[in-house]
Amino acid sequence: MTIKIETRADVLRRTGKVMAIAALATAVMSFTMGMLVFGRSLAAPITVGQMQLFGLTAGVFISIALSGAMSWRAGLLMLELAQTRRELALMSQTDQLTGLLNRRGFDAEAAAALDRAQTDGASAAVLMCDIDHFKSINDRYGHEIGDKVLVEIADVLRQFAVRHGALVARYGGEEFAAVLTGLSHEQAAHGAEQIRRDCAERTILDGVTQLPVTISIGFTIRESGFDLGGLMRTADQALYMAKRHGRDRVEHARDAA
Ligand code: GH3
Ligand code: MG
Ligand code: MG
Repeated sequence: MTIKIETRADVLRRTGKVMAIAALATAVMSFTMGMLVFGRSLAAPITVGQMQLFGLTAGVFISIALSGAMSWRAGLLMLELAQTRRELALMSQTDQLTGLLNRRGFDAEAAAALDRAQTDGASAAVLMCDIDHFKSINDRYGHEIGDKVLVEIADVLRQFAVRHGALVARYGGEEFAAVLTGLSHEQAAHGAEQIRRDCAERTILDGVTQLPVTISIGFTIRESGFDLGGLMRTADQALYMAKRHGRDRVEHARDAA
């Protein structure tokens, strides 16, 4: 994604070009009008009426051409500004490495998803996923392979999101979060288990060795009264339990909120 920021010099240069074209068009139109009003003969006398007609039409041409050019430039600038704002908003909510939503994007989208679930009377489940022993993957195979692992795990989550209409994000360094709405406890647990299994089955090549990667998942589900912060904290506690109970597993914690 490239963001083009217009400087004052860019705007002046491009507006100057438009104005020059408008001035040229005005000169051509005025000249043509002059030929029509005064005729081709240079020696012919000019009447007051002809002067008035020429002055009036030239004035109209000039004001239409210049104000039209200015409005056109202003319109283009507004469009470019809107586009730049859209791109900036997208960038600020996207994780550069994986292309998933980042934490900021997730917080905004998850709050909206929870509001919708609340309105529809649907349940909401939050999953916190964390790659197991990721530091030792980095230490052993290098940061680049670590990044590759993050991209692969993100891909598993993205595919899950497409299949199940879930909201997924890279929440932090090697942590991913997901929100699933309208599911029963069993369905949410099954979804979490599916993510865990898909990650464990995806082996990432470092060029020489097959690199098995596992993740631990904590999840929680509520039927109503959603509070994103509370759900995240509870899912995080469940994730902590999954780590303590040996990793590469899913744990559920009841949301106390
Ligand atoms: P656990 O199983 O308990 O989760 O252990 P862990 O090693 O996965 O967790 P720990 O918090 O000790 O280490 C996380 C590591 O993730 C440390 C940090 O350098 C690494 N990390 C965070 N962001 C990135 C990144 O963008 N790329 C890479 N390659 N590593 C990252
Ligand atoms: Mg972690
Ligand atoms: Mg970890």
